[in-house]
Amino acid sequence: MEFTYDAYKNLILLIKEHGYSFCDYLNYEKYDKSVIIRHDVDQDLKKALELSEVEHAMGISSIYFVLVTSNFYNIFSKKNREILQAICENGCSLGLHFDETQYCKIDENGWKEAVNYEISLLEQCIQRKVTSVSMHRISKETLEADRKIRDGKVINCYGKEFIRNHKYIADSRRYWKEDVEKLIREEQYKRFQILIHPFWYYWKGKSAKETLRSFCIDQAYRCYDELDKNIRNLNEFLEKSEVFV
Ligand SMILES: [Zn+2]
Repeated sequence: MEFTYDAYKNLILLIKEHGYSFCDYLNYEKYDKSVIIRHDVDQDLKKALELSEVEHAMGISSIYFVLVTSNFYNIFSKKNREILQAICENGCSLGLHFDETQYCKIDENGWKEAVNYEISLLEQCIQRKVTSVSMHRISKETLEADRKIRDGKVINCYGKEFIRNHKYIADSRRYWKEDVEKLIREEQYKRFQILIHPFWYYWKGKSAKETLRSFCIDQAYRCYDELDKNIRNLNEFLEKSEVFV
C-alpha cells in the first residue's frame, strides 16, 4: 500500500466492502467483523488533523493517540488545543500515547502512576474523558506484562485482548510487515486493530527521505516564526532567508 491519502481511502473502501465495521476499543464486541483504526501521533499534530479530515469525508472515525511528553509538539499550546478540538469535530476521538522512556527507570507502580498522571493531564487539556492508552515504542517488558490501567477501566491497546484476539497490523517505520489489503480481502480474521502513523501520508506520494527532509525544514521555519513572535525585530539579527544558506 502506498503512503498516500488516496491509498488510505481505498483501504477504507476495501474494509467497508468486506463487511467490517469501523469500531473503537469499547464497542467492537457489538459487531461480527470489526476494525479499530488507531493513529499514533509521534511528531506532527497537523498531519493528524489532515488525516482526520480524510476520514471525516469518508464517513469513518478513528482514535488519535497523542503524546503529553513530546519534544516535537506541545498539546497545551493554543494552536494545538485547537487542532485537537478540530480532530474531535471530525468525529474522531483522542487517547494517550505514553512514552515510558521519558521517565527514569520505573517499576510497575511507577509506570502506572506516570500513566495515570498523563491521562489526567490530557483530560484537563482536551476537557474530555480519556478511555484508551497506546505505548510509544513499547518495551518487551511492558508488552509482556499486559498491564491494567486504572484497574482495567482504561483500555491498554497492547493488552492481550487487542494483540492476541485481534489481528494487529501496523505501518511502523513506514513499513507494513504484512499486506494489509490482502488480509482484509481474505477475511480470515474477524477483528483487526490497524495502526497507521499519519506522519507518512500525503496527497502526493513522497519517499521516506522526502517526508523526513520536508519535516525537518518545516520545523526549522516554524522555529524561526516562533522566535519572531518572541524577539523584537528578529530579522535585524537573522533573516528568514538566512536560516538555510
Ligand atoms: Zn509512537
